[in-house]
Amino acid sequence: MTIPQAAEQGKTLTAVLAEQGKTLTAALEKGGWRTTMVDHMLDKARRIADDVLFPAAARVDTTGVIPAGHLDLLAQEGFYGLAARDDVDGATFARIVETLASGCLATTFVWLQHHSAVTGADKSVTAGVRGKWFEPLRLGQRRAGVSQAGVRPGPSPLAARRVTGGYILDGEAPWVTGWGMIDTLRVAARDGDTIVWALLDTAPGPTLGVTPLDLVAVAASHTVHLRFDGHFVPDEQVTGVLAYSDWAPWDAANLGLNGYLALGVAVRCCRLIGRGPLNAELDAVRVALDTGTPQTLPAARAAAAELALRAAATVTVTTGSRAVLAGAHGQRLVREATFLLVFGSRPTIRAELLRRVQRGRNE
Ligand SMILES: Cc1cc2nc3c(=O)[nH]c(=O)nc-3n(C[C@H](O)[C@H](O)[C@H](O)COP(=O)(O)OP(=O)(O)OC[C@H]3O[C@@H](n4cnc5c(N)ncnc54)[C@H](O)[C@@H]3O)c2cc1C
Repeated sequence: MTIPQAAEQGKTLTAVLAEQGKTLTAALEKGGWRTTMVDHMLDKARRIADDVLFPAAARVDTTGVIPAGHLDLLAQEGFYGLAARDDVDGATFARIVETLASGCLATTFVWLQHHSAVTGADKSVTAGVRGKWFEPLRLGQRRAGVSQAGVRPGPSPLAARRVTGGYILDGEAPWVTGWGMIDTLRVAARDGDTIVWALLDTAPGPTLGVTPLDLVAVAASHTVHLRFDGHFVPDEQVTGVLAYSDWAPWDAANLGLNGYLALGVAVRCCRLIGRGPLNAELDAVRVALDTGTPQTLPAARAAAAELALRAAATVTVTTGSRAVLAGAHGQRLVREATFLLVFGSRPTIRAELLRRVQRGRNE
């Protein structure tokens, strides 16, 4: 049984295997590819991307649903705890993001949001936080999203007000990815010049309103808008507080990671097109992201986003009219690359991207 055969029956491969009393992990293990060594996480990511994620990517896009088996597989194979492993360095983590994104951007995008909560729980000095949250998050038994609304410059859309025993949250989190696939939200809210980081349960209620967003790409990420209306967070869920002035240097040094999502899209495009001039550009952008500094990362991010867009356009033009049929790779990759022009952006990235996309006009 293959994914296309399962799709012909209107089912996911995971569902068909479940009917047979098998799990996807066991089936793949029987196929001889499962490895356990840390060094082989990247190899596992490659196999998952090529054998599981990419064959289902068009279906994920057209149905707007990520099969639960995809995220379960990533959890079973240790990918939800990646950020907490001392033996997985930043370069390996980045390569895994790129590799998984080359399989299915929506699945990778949802999975990627989880790691902020893992790190927050792991490093928290608040009594009880690590004990309660870290292990379930590391194992992917709990799955998390993140809202960074409270770290934006200027007036924060989400305020935290100190009260006895905790904080009250008021305002909005305009973008939260993974709704319905996460049970935990790591949220940043602002109390004056302080960022308050907390872990919340995602159950909606009278103080937490949820509005789904209608997206033209990665719709399967189930990204929503949240409204907090006097939402109480007890102290034992506050992972930490940070002076706002300490955020900007951290953010500038960590801008690179989202660039590997764009790189993953570009990688898939290059593989669909076949070896050509874009491969050299791909290698150069990867080096720029891998070796980036706070000063150079915005340009590297912009280069990655622009390359993904051009590579997706190349797939579309090369394929011809069939590329705009629903389910075709070309149109999906162009829409995904469009999303990556704006996701996780900063003013410096935007300025460099505008310079790049307007270049043709001025030549
Ligand atoms: C489909 C989709 C899903 C998204 N999912 C999430 C999610 O799950 N969690 C989440 O937190 N965000 C999420 N975002 C938001 C996105 O990452 C930010 O909005 C983006 O970084 C900046 O977008 P913007 O240029 O429209 O600026 P705005 O979001 O309007 O922000 C205004 C200003 O604040 C700056 N800014 C925004 N975010 C930060 C930050 N974290 N640190 C420093 N400065 C910042 C921007 O550069 C900009 O100058 C999602 C966005 C999209 C399109």
